[in-house]
Amino acid sequence: MTVSAIIVAAGSGVRMKSDRPKQYLELGGMPLVSRTLKVFDDHPAVENLFLVVPAADFAFCRSEILSAVPWKKTIHLVPGGKRRQDSVHEGLKAAARYAGAGEIVLIHDGVRPFVPPDMITACIACAKESGACILGVPASDTLKRVDAGRVVSRTLSRETVWLAQTPQAFSMDLITAAFEHAAEMDFSTTDDAAVVEFYGRPVRVIPGSRRNIKITTPEDLDFALALLRLAGEMP
Ligand code: C5P
Repeated sequence: MTVSAIIVAAGSGVRMKSDRPKQYLELGGMPLVSRTLKVFDDHPAVENLFLVVPAADFAFCRSEILSAVPWKKTIHLVPGGKRRQDSVHEGLKAAARYAGAGEIVLIHDGVRPFVPPDMITACIACAKESGACILGVPASDTLKRVDAGRVVSRTLSRETVWLAQTPQAFSMDLITAAFEHAAEMDFSTTDDAAVVEFYGRPVRVIPGSRRNIKITTPEDLDFALALLRLAGEMP
């Protein structure tokens, strides 16, 4: 069964407040997105790799990412869209041209370079069995729904709340149908599994890692550097 991985990195990264999009920031001597790509390039189960970036960044990506490292696999560049959901949809259409029916597709944020390879393996195995599987961690803080005036409108029960991570793995047929359904129904979300939930199909959750952070804000970069030091990759 072919496994494709779609790495989405077409965001503008405004929350990072940096002079370049967060996915291209240097992290321990290589662009953040290259570090993420490397995890999937090294993973033995992943055959096809798709990197979704803004079309305007293709030349930069070819010279600074694709040519900068001797990758084991071919990395296909795909132009991203306005919302994350649009970027994933473009990635899915590109992946469908390479993978046949009944295959597995992994969708992963380009800004999550610390995903443990054994969790990618577990996510693929779970999706082969169930059709849709995501990594998640149980919430450790209590979550509050807060209204526009910064007043708490509801407290969610911590016992039943998990924080969704990526990768998220799906059967190609299911995720393609779910994305088409979402487009027809004008359903918008920041999470791929939510598209499958909206389509009415169950999504399994397996334990992720608190180290699998999504590098979004300047504080996240501090955590990322600490993780690299812990791994002995930086002095
Ligand atoms: O914005 P958010 O933090 O949810 O972004 C998660 C990932 O989705 C990032 O790697 C970002 O580059 C990507 N993304 C994308 N296309 C967009 C918006 C975000 O590929 N239009």
